Amino acid sequence: MSGNLRFVLGDQLTRDLSALADIDPARDAVLMVEVEAEGRAVPHHRQKIAFLLSAMRHFAEALRAEGIRVDYVRLDDPDNTQDFTGELARAVARHGPKRVIVTEPGEWRVEEMMRGWAQSLPVPLEIRADDRFFCSRADFTALVRARKTGRMEFFYREMRRRTGYLMDGDTPVGGQWNFDPDNRKALPRGTRVPERRRFPPDAITREVLALTASRFGTHFGDLEPFGWAVTRADALLALDDFIAVGLPRFGDYQDAMRAGEDFLFHSLISPYLNCGLLTAREACDRAVEALGDGAAPINAVEGFIRQILGWREFVRGIYWAEMPGYAGGNHLNATRPLPALYWTGDTPMRCMAECIGTTRRHAYAHHIQRLMVTGNFALLAGIEPAQIEAWYLAVYADAYEWVELPNVHGMVMHADGGRLGSKPYAASGAYIHRMSDYCTGCSYDPKVKLGPGACPFNYLYWNFLIENAAVLSPNPRMAMPYRTLARMPAAQRAEIVQAARVFLDGLPTDWG
Ligand SMILES: Cc1cc2nc3c(=O)[nH]c(=O)nc-3n(C[C@H](O)[C@H](O)[C@H](O)COP(=O)(O)OP(=O)(O)OC[C@H]3O[C@@H](n4cnc5c(N)ncnc54)[C@H](O)[C@@H]3O)c2cc1C
Ligand code: SF4
Repeated sequence: MSGNLRFVLGDQLTRDLSALADIDPARDAVLMVEVEAEGRAVPHHRQKIAFLLSAMRHFAEALRAEGIRVDYVRLDDPDNTQDFTGELARAVARHGPKRVIVTEPGEWRVEEMMRGWAQSLPVPLEIRADDRFFCSRADFTALVRARKTGRMEFFYREMRRRTGYLMDGDTPVGGQWNFDPDNRKALPRGTRVPERRRFPPDAITREVLALTASRFGTHFGDLEPFGWAVTRADALLALDDFIAVGLPRFGDYQDAMRAGEDFLFHSLISPYLNCGLLTAREACDRAVEALGDGAAPINAVEGFIRQILGWREFVRGIYWAEMPGYAGGNHLNATRPLPALYWTGDTPMRCMAECIGTTRRHAYAHHIQRLMVTGNFALLAGIEPAQIEAWYLAVYADAYEWVELPNVHGMVMHADGGRLGSKPYAASGAYIHRMSDYCTGCSYDPKVKLGPGACPFNYLYWNFLIENAAVLSPNPRMAMPYRTLARMPAAQRAEIVQAARVFLDGLPTDWG
């Protein structure tokens, strides 16, 4: 072969990827591999595995349709060594390329692997930056250093200035940077939630569904019904659908939850953004257009842009700036094993059962379900960070370590000592009661603090503050709850600690 071998990973399914930028179809080839090592490193949700395999196979077909030679190694190829390093070595031996070209990966572990390739391959390796993000890794580090702050809000404002999104010269459109106070409404009873566009499996997806069922049959999660887009064309239709039916009320009900409504007004585009079928820029552009056309209000569009331009870029920056040490922290010394209910959904706590149910059905839950229900419970229960991180990484179709880890380790578990968020998002049952209808029909009562029928989130919340007082009470943002705790009679505190202990010790951890 007289050209280059361009190795494209499963979360790099973007035609404009840097590794494909200057491809010469007459001389170059693209390598894509399905390897079990990636599918088994974590027991991924079966829908997530099928989604990625199908999206990869469709991407390979789209490249072939352009006349590009694609060397595609399937999972069930008998010669497949089932790991990236083995497959790349075999492909280099097959093709004898001048060079191997890759785009930097999304995960620290794979980047380490790539560094090894530079040593072990008989041909040069070129690693290119992943320019699908608004902020490069180097820019993020420089920005944080220059500002001497790592807070999302500052980062987000700077990104607004740099990109010009929602800017009117130097001032933010609408006169304020942040419309969060407008975006915390509970969903009024009777509000109609739109049907969302889903995509019936085609022949390639059906083949992949059968393969996933046979090879990953014991993994968590329903495989069907399968409704994810697996091509760029369908992912664009999914984005259109969101802009038309979700975005107008995205802001208002961003934090709302309702039993039986798995998607509400959320975009459902994170799996597409994270594997490359959609770009962050086109999602932001479409939202800004909708504002210009009068199709969506500013609080919705700003809320959406904030999630992508702000949070998504910020967590990626933190991940690369802080790894590998980041994953090892355990600021609150949490050591409890993961309760079995995270896998089974078998619990009388209706909020937890609902959020785990949607996770099982779709490999999806929206942000507030992840943060304020399953995440809040993990924080209050003191689950060991590594165990809950592994759960989040496994169960969501959009989960990759660069985005999952900062969200779980930092935002949810406060295990990074406040690098990502200045205080833990701990909340009692009152929050869930206010923002959802889950408590209606629950075996527990969110208004009861202790004793029969008491909502576990209530006594777990105060127990969490008591247990972590030495670490958290000096935090000025925690002053208010600690003042309330200080006024609580000692006997009541003792009852709280006892109730929490009985509840937590009674949670089974074995689900096999
Ligand atoms: C505990 C926990 C774990 C999470 N794990 C992941 C994960 O593995 N992968 C992932 O993509 N997101 C993760 N998130 C962020 C967020 O929950 C999901 O991006 C969002 O729910 C995806 O659904 P959506 O596309 O409908 O999002 P929308 O609510 O419609 O938001 C639009 C987009 O904003 C981005 N976004 C929003 N919030 C965040 C955030 N906190 N961090 C990064 N991007 C954000 C996503 O790309 C999302 O598609 C996690 C959040 C929490 C609290
Ligand atoms: S009462 Fe408590 S456990 Fe039950 S749904 Fe409400 S918050 Fe969840």
